[in-house]
Amino acid sequence: MQKNELKNTAAERPESDGKLTRDFFAKLPKTDLHVHLDGSLRLETIWDLAKKDKIDLGVSSLEELRDLIAPGKIHDSLNDYLKGFDITLKVLQTKENLYRAAYELSEDCAKENVEYFEVRYSPILHTQKGLSLPEILESVIDGLKAGQRDFGVTSGVIVCGMRNISPDVSLRMAELAVAFKHRGVVGFDLAGAEYNYPARDHLGAFSLILSNNVNVTIHAGEAYGPDSIHQALHYCGAHRIGHGVRLREDGDLLNYVNDHRIPLELCPSSNVQTRAVKNIKEHPLKFYLDLSLRVTLNTDNRLITNTTMTDEYWQAYNAFNLSPQNILDLIINGVKSSFMPYEIKKSYLREVKRKTIKLFLREANINLNIKPVTGK
Ligand SMILES: [Zn+2]
Repeated sequence: MQKNELKNTAAERPESDGKLTRDFFAKLPKTDLHVHLDGSLRLETIWDLAKKDKIDLGVSSLEELRDLIAPGKIHDSLNDYLKGFDITLKVLQTKENLYRAAYELSEDCAKENVEYFEVRYSPILHTQKGLSLPEILESVIDGLKAGQRDFGVTSGVIVCGMRNISPDVSLRMAELAVAFKHRGVVGFDLAGAEYNYPARDHLGAFSLILSNNVNVTIHAGEAYGPDSIHQALHYCGAHRIGHGVRLREDGDLLNYVNDHRIPLELCPSSNVQTRAVKNIKEHPLKFYLDLSLRVTLNTDNRLITNTTMTDEYWQAYNAFNLSPQNILDLIINGVKSSFMPYEIKKSYLREVKRKTIKLFLREANINLNIKPVTGK
């Protein structure tokens, strides 16, 4: 075996050689499966849109707006973190503005080699100025299509029901997701305040979603314990779990998630800022990786959390001394966990592996000698 050559077995995975740079992570072909539209606008765009539409944000300059939103701030709780969305939502009430937010998100992804993303939002939060629900969805889908055309980034929409809004509204969102399945929508989620708002209250929505074969991911195990993950999986039929930070508190459920290859959409920076974890070192990312759970890295909210996919990889690499194999696993897991059709996923997975292995060799002189991907 050559120097730096790796075997694909956990016991022989070497530690990081410390040579990788932030630029290396920027070049990696990445996915972002957990990113909220209303949490990921550019600050300058919010300011522009507020001026254009004469919306009073209660601030008189871009700097004041930055202070108000406080990107990257560590909050007291998830509920406190979610307050930033009250501001961003004020400018996301027209077709034009929704289109722009989606288009610019595609551009931001392209700039850092995020080749595929699934953006989520709850259309009900964009009806303040009278837009219809289909208009709200079509504007974003059109923005994403234009983004794909201009920047080459593929994407899909995940429609969110909201835990802290009536289950009837979740059912309306579920109907919308079903109507737009294969027309830009790739899945359904339940977002919002987790504590005191159990997913099982929204069973009507999930029943409709599952009977129409729509993909499901649910925010769970972020601000509430493993019971929330249990409900998401066994009451609501989740195919993926958003966050799942607190899965580590229940070893039996953790093994179930692992055995069934249920992906976890980890968003470490956001988890620090909502106090789901005390600090990045306490995040279970590496623990999960070592157990071979199907973990993915994601941004959650590019603006509110002040992050990018490159930042998330760079931070995880430094905090956990990730090995090249760990990094390859995260990249591969992102593709495997996506809601892409299987045939497309299979060929895209080969391409991503090829690109990643080439980058490791060219940029860091690390030869990842791995077996071809088989199975699901
Ligand atoms: Zn989220």
